[in-house]
Amino acid sequence: MSQSLIVAKFGGTSVADFAAMNRSADVVLADPKTRLVVLSASAGVTNLLVSLSEGQEPEQRAYQLDEIRRIQYAIVDQLSQPDVIRDEVDRVLENITMLSEAAALATSSALTDELVSHGELLSTLLFVEVLRQRQVESQWFDVRKVMRTDDRFGRAEPDITLLAELTQTQLAPKLADALIVTQGFIGSEAKGRTTTLGRGGSDYTAALLGEALQASRIDIWTDVPGIYTTDPRVVPAAKRIDEITFEEAAEMATFGAKVLHPATLMPAVRSDIPVFVGSSKDPSAGGTLVCNESKKLPLFRALALRRKQTLLTLHSLNMLHSRGFLAEVFNILARYNISVDLITTSEVSVALTLDTTGSTSTGDSLLTQALLTELSSLCRVEVEENLALVAIIGNKLSQACGVGKEVFGVLDPFNLRLICYGASSYNLCFLVPGNDAEQVVQTLHRNLFE
Ligand code: ADP
Ligand code: ASP
Ligand code: MG
Repeated sequence: MSQSLIVAKFGGTSVADFAAMNRSADVVLADPKTRLVVLSASAGVTNLLVSLSEGQEPEQRAYQLDEIRRIQYAIVDQLSQPDVIRDEVDRVLENITMLSEAAALATSSALTDELVSHGELLSTLLFVEVLRQRQVESQWFDVRKVMRTDDRFGRAEPDITLLAELTQTQLAPKLADALIVTQGFIGSEAKGRTTTLGRGGSDYTAALLGEALQASRIDIWTDVPGIYTTDPRVVPAAKRIDEITFEEAAEMATFGAKVLHPATLMPAVRSDIPVFVGSSKDPSAGGTLVCNESKKLPLFRALALRRKQTLLTLHSLNMLHSRGFLAEVFNILARYNISVDLITTSEVSVALTLDTTGSTSTGDSLLTQALLTELSSLCRVEVEENLALVAIIGNKLSQACGVGKEVFGVLDPFNLRLICYGASSYNLCFLVPGNDAEQVVQTLHRNLFE
């Protein structure tokens, strides 16, 4: 492990405008061990690009293109020498215009990724210039040279071995000469076409590059000073967790704590690299350290909330005393590239939710008509939408006594649609109607953490 290397990632709000970029630059410069900076697109830009990639009417398209130009030019115009970068920014904006016109004629997932990648290309271009104009030697690096992925556009998976090789040859030597600024979220497949790792994927990029470079720490700088007992936007009384284990934080991310992309901790765990989460707006407020061991391992650690969950209930009398029904169901789901998330079974039915972890860049629904038709040929299918998954994250939950009473005792005003408890000692999950979700989390938080 390189004792002296930190990979620092800054999210959309941390590069939203000129002031935010300068605060993030301060954070980078405060620790000389930070040699690689991974950036998201400026806040709002990815959403605009996703919308453009869906193919817009000319008027709407012009409006969205103007919005992107406005967000990025607000930064350009505040540089002390804006002219050195104008041409380059204009060239990227022209590319976006051209691609959005193509998307209006015919959309495709490859085109979407190509278009959406421009948010990170722009933010990194601008950040390098912000640093340069502060007399900091820095270099822009195209992450697609090393982030080799498969070609599942919108949710591409990196080839870890190739990434490690390419990083060692193409990126590592540059770190000795200058601070390197690169893009999160984007990659490229074998033929060189641009891919993306799914929404929120910049965290994952930082962790993957941290692993490939054997970094000593991965810093995730965002708009909250750490990981909280639950989303502070839902529960203002949520408390910061100073130290948390990889397992607990990974469960939180998987079950919806947006502060970390669900895959972020995989490389960190594999290579035992601590991850720090802090606020670029207020770095002195401290943050959360995610690492292998934590001094405290409380029974209840945090609550996570994942919205827009779909529950499938499959009924079949053939299931009664028979074998192979579940195998058939899982086979079909596997063919559609869907992994099952929560599951409960009874004598003649099985209820399951589809894993939406790390959804695609466009947020496409997993539940297609073709899948429903195929499942319907096997059994009666019921679909319930608009549910929310609430997860309680903790330690040794399945070994403790009284967990049920403590959790469910305060939830009697609510309908609990499905409960999963016992498979993992780190979580207890259940589904509630989407409209009740925030109230359920607030009630539980009051009871378990306040
Ligand atoms: P970035 O753009 O920096 O990647 P995100 O919006 O993806 O930032 O993630 C930060 C947000 O995550 C916070 O503003 C907060 O609302 C949300 N969040 C959800 N759960 C948690 C949690 N348990 N602790 C902290 N923040 C959380
Ligand atoms: N810009 C991308 C997104 O908005 C990736 C990221 O911010 O992590 O999803
Ligand atoms: Mg994020």
